[in-house]
Amino acid sequence: MSSVQRITVLGATGSIGRSTLDVVARHPDRFKIHALTAHRNVDALFEACVAHRPPFAVVAEPSAARTLAARLAQASIDTRVLSGEEGLIEAATHPDVDSVMAAIVGAAGLKPTLAAARAGKKILLANKEALVMAGPIFMAAVRAHGAALLPIDSEHNAIFQCLPALASGRLADCGVRRILLTGSGGPFRTRPISELAHVTPEQACAHPVWNMGRKISVDSATMMNKALEVVEAHWLFGASPEQIEVVIHPQSVVHSMVEYADGSVIAQLGHPDMRTPIAQALAYPDRVDAGVAFLDLAKIGSLSFEKPDFERFRALALAYEVLAAGGSAPAVFNAANEVAVDAFLAKELSFPRITEVIEATLDRLPAREIQSLEDVIEADRAARVQAAALLKPRTLVGAA
Ligand code: NAD
Ligand code: MG
Repeated sequence: MSSVQRITVLGATGSIGRSTLDVVARHPDRFKIHALTAHRNVDALFEACVAHRPPFAVVAEPSAARTLAARLAQASIDTRVLSGEEGLIEAATHPDVDSVMAAIVGAAGLKPTLAAARAGKKILLANKEALVMAGPIFMAAVRAHGAALLPIDSEHNAIFQCLPALASGRLADCGVRRILLTGSGGPFRTRPISELAHVTPEQACAHPVWNMGRKISVDSATMMNKALEVVEAHWLFGASPEQIEVVIHPQSVVHSMVEYADGSVIAQLGHPDMRTPIAQALAYPDRVDAGVAFLDLAKIGSLSFEKPDFERFRALALAYEVLAAGGSAPAVFNAANEVAVDAFLAKELSFPRITEVIEATLDRLPAREIQSLEDVIEADRAARVQAAALLKPRTLVGAA
């Protein structure tokens, strides 16, 4: 790697993408942007290109690419604009790129992130859905092509920091007994269950601690986010389901912990600001300023922990069932959630039905063996069709 790290940011206009650009801008001597990508938000991508002057930018549609290219040319900015999935893959695999921030939301991030792994890049993984869907294929690609995988999800980044090294062998060989995955419990942790049928997307997206994109905010409210993170921890750290325990910690100051055989528990703490894990992973093994305020523990006063309520948050229980089922089950789990969350955000589905749709989709699509990326994509497709059918009001969830 050259002394200046050249970075592609997939999903540059999102919450993680913007936090990444904030950290990058603080260290022009260390980090340089190679490519920035966005789905449709040409205005935001244009602004980011003005600030970072990357050689490449990517948007989904060719027409949006032409609009962006014209605006950049008018502003005398020398950025080549690509489009579509090929554009994303080109941005993620270009020989000039050292690191790829995978911050596209959902299954759309899988192919470019996997391409980055196959090109042996350093991957900063925020896009947990990609790993949940294709865990074994993704991890095999990382190993086969000598890629480095650094977790950005705050919990997994915390675990990474609390482990002796990104444990490639068995956790038990490093003396690890359990991973304690913390979660805030989201905005509805204590709301009466009878009220949940009436909560709105705005209420679900108003997370008490974290400021995030809309999809992950809804995932946090159902605790599907923690469920995806259980699967993510399984693949990233080779942890068995029994080795992963979820602990509710409403203040989100302890980002996760690792428990060792001798009774030690090592935790990573910090303000709930994603710039900390982003800076940790970007600069690893160095440490750099992330623009984040330092913790004042006396001011915080107390930290609390409780057991998760698996009945209120059924998605959490499903994560362990999905891990036990294996094969296509995680991909189905993820895809059904994406369909249900989109419907909830479009006000076409009530909040409690999100988890019902996920569970019913899993019931209807028994786990199949996964051997290739094509198998993953087929499981994702079938789950989307099934979940969409379940959204229709006539369909009785739970009926055979
Ligand atoms: P976001 O919705 O704010 O941003 C998503 C980004 O992906 C945008 O740049 C958007 O243009 C791009 N995108 C969306 N659909 C696309 C498509 N079909 N093709 C190409 N690009 C597309 O999301 P976010 O909150 O930044 O989350 C991004 C990822 O990081 C998610 O996987 C999320 O689970 C994970 N993550 C986020 C946070 C957080 O604090 N926001 C924390 C941990 C993990
Ligand atoms: Mg997280």
